[in-house]
Amino acid sequence: MERCTVCRARLSDGPLCRRCGSDFSLVLAAQARMHALFSESLCLWQQGHPTTALALAGQAVTLKAEPALLVWRDYLIDHQLHQALGLLEQGESQQAHRLCQQILAVHPAPLALVLRRFIDALTTQAVLPLN
Ligand SMILES: [Zn+2]
Repeated sequence: MERCTVCRARLSDGPLCRRCGSDFSLVLAAQARMHALFSESLCLWQQGHPTTALALAGQAVTLKAEPALLVWRDYLIDHQLHQALGLLEQGESQQAHRLCQQILAVHPAPLALVLRRFIDALTTQAVLPLN
């Protein structure tokens, strides 16, 4: 945050605007938390925990929807959707369904919704076993 959103003065020394007195400490704290969650999400991905990485990216987006963070979250959603399809191909419909639920808990991604409904329809019609 470089400028005061009230009077557009430059914010250089801290959370208080020198011109109008607006206090941005909560905004800056939320921004710092978003960066921490984003960072943690990247680390978890690197350590092989994509589901938790996605959950943290989703939390971070609720604090501030930075473009790079949105790209990261959408990449994780895409990855998890591919995982769900792979599970479905292997006959692991319940795990695929759970993965779709986890994606939808983070973001209402249309493809996750369609895939979950597809799995629901197949399992209801007993085309796929519930395993
Ligand atoms: Zn100001």
